[in-house]
Amino acid sequence: MDKKNTALMRLYSLLDRIIEPWPTACEKGCASCCTTHVTATTLEGRAVLDYLEKENRTLPANLDEGELFSPAVTTNGLARLCMEREEPPEEFKPDHFNPCPFLEDGVCSIYPARPLGCRVMLSASQCKPGGFAEMDDYWLTVNQVFLQALEALDCPGRFGNFSLILQYLAFGQSVENLLNNEPVPGLMIPPEHQQQISAILPELNRILAAAMG
Ligand code: SF4
Repeated sequence: MDKKNTALMRLYSLLDRIIEPWPTACEKGCASCCTTHVTATTLEGRAVLDYLEKENRTLPANLDEGELFSPAVTTNGLARLCMEREEPPEEFKPDHFNPCPFLEDGVCSIYPARPLGCRVMLSASQCKPGGFAEMDDYWLTVNQVFLQALEALDCPGRFGNFSLILQYLAFGQSVENLLNNEPVPGLMIPPEHQQQISAILPELNRILAAAMG
């Protein structure tokens, strides 16, 4: 396993430890948030392909079905624009979405390898299909920081819709709707969360430093 993959697994495991005590309503079989809107990085896409190979499985045939959401800016790109006081580009988010192609009988079939975008999707109350998750403000800050760290870890990789990332990696499909990852321009931490999150940052920095050193 190369350094970046090791760092990715350490990031996942650190996030698991942080969210473990959070009072979420998420449970096995609850999959309202498992849609074709999920985003990922190329580093995570490779980890999913490796996982499927180890399990002697192939990509789902319906990977390219439906209208896929493609973000217009990466997480660090958005942070940079905020710091530069620039407006983010407009984003087209289809109203309709399909269930995630990895969802089987209401359960994630790649659960150990699922991307960060899935791991940070938590809710304090049960979501209705197509509804919204209920997230504590601090959870949102933690999510933001992890997504920023992951993007920096995967520089100069790419970011975009999870299905498109997999099609790009597996079949060499166009990168037209994928974005270039960016380094962290500054972590987006509101003043009220600075102290609480400071307990996490040293370990997060160690993970990134070990991968990039
Ligand atoms: S990869 Fe798994 S957890 Fe993520 S959206 Fe798909 S089924 Fe849900």
